[in-house]
Amino acid sequence: MLKLAIQKSGRLHEDSMKLLKECGISVSNGANKLKTEATNFPLQVFFLRDDDIPQYVEDGVADLGIAGENVVYEKNKSVKVVEQLGFGGCRLSIAVPRGESYKHIQSLEGKRIATSYPFLTRQYLERNKVNAEIHEISGSVEIAPGIGLSDAICDLVSSGSTLLTNGLKEVETILQSQAVLIRHNSFDLVQQQLLDKLLFRIHAVRKAKNNKYVLLNAPNNKLEEIISLLPGMKSPTVLPLAEEGWSSVHSVLSEDEFWDKIERLKDAGAQGILVVPIEKMVM
Ligand code: ATP
Ligand code: ZN
Repeated sequence: MLKLAIQKSGRLHEDSMKLLKECGISVSNGANKLKTEATNFPLQVFFLRDDDIPQYVEDGVADLGIAGENVVYEKNKSVKVVEQLGFGGCRLSIAVPRGESYKHIQSLEGKRIATSYPFLTRQYLERNKVNAEIHEISGSVEIAPGIGLSDAICDLVSSGSTLLTNGLKEVETILQSQAVLIRHNSFDLVQQQLLDKLLFRIHAVRKAKNNKYVLLNAPNNKLEEIISLLPGMKSPTVLPLAEEGWSSVHSVLSEDEFWDKIERLKDAGAQGILVVPIEKMVM
């Protein structure tokens, strides 16, 4: 049995639950429950504050955890990062009042920086040989300059709208972050086998998300060119259409080359292009 710690509520909760579901693992999310057990996988799920997850995993109270890299690296516990999960994206950035002239990191010399991430902020400043005063505060960091508590802040940013409404501008990115799966430092053979089973499913889910199933009709005299545009898992499937001289081509396209490829397929004479999401993908 593996014990997995996920965020009880907040930005990572829904996506963590969704990932389990997509991996075919059924967990009930009873309100105000501290833990629950999956019905069809040897997994117990603990619902905790995200900040506490690295500690629980270090101690072995939980074998696995899902938390943001920002939290994992800030807490600096002895745990292993197993896998990036592709959700909870944000960045840890330094911001200063918009009117402030800021040239480079040395502009922060002697300044006061408010943050909930003292470890990562200090590390960044030291690496850049800048001396600044770090004020650790636990929330509403973005208002610190406005109330005269600090000259700058170091906080999580995603869209930047919080900075904007508080009259701040982002000047340094110190960490790009997303949710990761972490594990306790030592795993026995049985735990490792269970983790491998879970990872196999996670990879299938993530691969599927990054790919689309494409079906299209092609005139036979354009088949060669169209097929050359489509990689497919091995190579595209080609089936004859009932209409003489035409074929149906099936393939898989990755998200990042998708739009570019679709346009080139159309230009090459493809018609009736259908794009279908893939639920799981096992290579
Ligand atoms: P908890 O009650 O569990 O301590 P919290 O208030 O500390 O919750 P949330 O705001 O739910 O945490 O954020 C959890 C994680 O979501 C962050 O640590 C970060 O990894 C990620 N995240 C993604 N985008 C953002 C964002 N714009 N602001 C803050 N966190 C973000
Ligand atoms: Zn938190």
